[in-house]
Amino acid sequence: MMTNSPPVQIVIIEDEKQIRHFLYSALTADGFQVYEAENGQRGLIDCATRKPDLVILDLGLPDIDGISVIEQLRSWSQIPIIVLSARSQEAEKVAALDAGADDYLTKPFGLSELQARIRAHLRRHEPQQEAADCNIHFGDVDIDVSQRIVLRHQHPIHLTPIEYRLLLTLIR
Ligand code: CA
Repeated sequence: MMTNSPPVQIVIIEDEKQIRHFLYSALTADGFQVYEAENGQRGLIDCATRKPDLVILDLGLPDIDGISVIEQLRSWSQIPIIVLSARSQEAEKVAALDAGADDYLTKPFGLSELQARIRAHLRRHEPQQEAADCNIHFGDVDIDVSQRIVLRHQHPIHLTPIEYRLLLTLIR
């Protein structure tokens, strides 16, 4: 990590104390500033107040479903969300990604894989802030970045969050 920049902040939303504490210790040791939330409501509040750089979210929470946490976060924030879940069903994974999650790890997961994915998402997310309210035009495609609207020949194209992000990454 760079020594002069402020620490990267991560919110962990996970009700299983053992996993939460394990992640807290591991990521704190990596130099991240970590906030722990034991349920969805608390997690949403932490995300709103701490404005973290990345969120690690367990889908099975005691109060609100993780998918709903993703949807609520996505209504106002584009921060990377990495989902952790004991549920390995494909449908669950698809629902989380469609709701706006950026990545998905099935428990039990390897710490080094999670760390690598965190680094990848932080790298990818970096330039997003700068171009937050500009329009991009190339060929017959127009992108309104603030509204997240993509037009081709003036007609809106539906993209999943991942496709949208990939498109932005590709044209920058
Ligand atoms: Ca859980």
